[in-house]
Amino acid sequence: MMTERTEISNSPEAGATATIVNRIRDEILHRQRFLLTSHARPDGDSIGSQLAMAYALESLGKQVRLVNADAAPEHYFEFPGVDRIEIAPRTGWVADALIVMECSDLTRTGVAGLDGHFIINIDHHAGNRMYGAINWFDESAAACGEMVFDIIQALGVPLSPEIATHIYLAILTDTGSFHHSNITPRTFEICRQAVEARLNPTIMARRVYDSNSFGKLKLIGALLDEMQLVDGGRLAVLRMDDAVLAACGCTQNDTEGIINLPLTAREIQAVVFFKMSANGDVRVSMRSKYDVDVRLVASEFGGAGHKNAAGFTVAGKLEDVQPRIVDRLVKAVDEGLETRPAE
Ligand code: 5GP
Ligand code: MN
Repeated sequence: MMTERTEISNSPEAGATATIVNRIRDEILHRQRFLLTSHARPDGDSIGSQLAMAYALESLGKQVRLVNADAAPEHYFEFPGVDRIEIAPRTGWVADALIVMECSDLTRTGVAGLDGHFIINIDHHAGNRMYGAINWFDESAAACGEMVFDIIQALGVPLSPEIATHIYLAILTDTGSFHHSNITPRTFEICRQAVEARLNPTIMARRVYDSNSFGKLKLIGALLDEMQLVDGGRLAVLRMDDAVLAACGCTQNDTEGIINLPLTAREIQAVVFFKMSANGDVRVSMRSKYDVDVRLVASEFGGAGHKNAAGFTVAGKLEDVQPRIVDRLVKAVDEGLETRPAE
């Protein structure tokens, strides 16, 4: 069942936002079976957005299945409902609607067999391809979880402890615990409401940020020990291969968050993290401060993300690809410094 496409994009005004949210609410209310998905290698915003939406739909008596290409990072396992997410490279289940969160196009899900659905596309990444029957894209949202919150409110579903937990998880992680740009009064208003609903921010911070294994601490030590500084210390370069992972007794999942650590040094304006994968590809993650635009760099190499957090995958040997990427980042850092706000 296809209906007319609706598109709202990029920093919409309040009236336009209300219109699209009401449209999504209406499409949800007259449907029964929902499939929810997000991007491959899900992060806190993907998991939180998916599960907040799932609990809200179920409170309305809807049938919900969740499918992702990859498992959540281990420290999210104990959050409610994470064990319900099916991990599969494809799905044959056809729902009345597919809600895709956090994906600029359908291939970002890493799950095959999704086409043909009535798709509701909810995203805050620049470059969304508007592939849904309804497309709500708002780059001004600090997390996709903020957008999901709006939909839950429009549906008239109160914040249960589970919903509050997942909305807060999405916002806490996608703002880098309230570090990145895009944090607005609305971000805190949503968090305020989550705390009203008995969400405990201390427990959340401990569970998300203070649940490392000893192996991960060793890995952090090993990677920081090998960190290279370029551009007068303004750009940090981290590199990792399977050997260092194995030496520390870690898996790829343990790498989450490590990229943010160099940014705690005052001088460092951007970080690039090169991960060598077994199939020979190089996975490149970038983080930055203020106006250093790593999304622009990612887009030039076929990736995407946000101004301060972006990534891409590139084929080739690290030795061959690294210099080009580092040079491009030095340029981004220098350009960003020119527009850096006063601290
Ligand atoms: P991470 O470095 O944590 O993998 O990704 C940082 C941000 O960039 C996230 O918002 C993520 O969605 C986006 N991103 C990273 N890699 C890719 C990619 O290969 N393609 C797209 N479309 N987005 C990416
Ligand atoms: Mn996000």
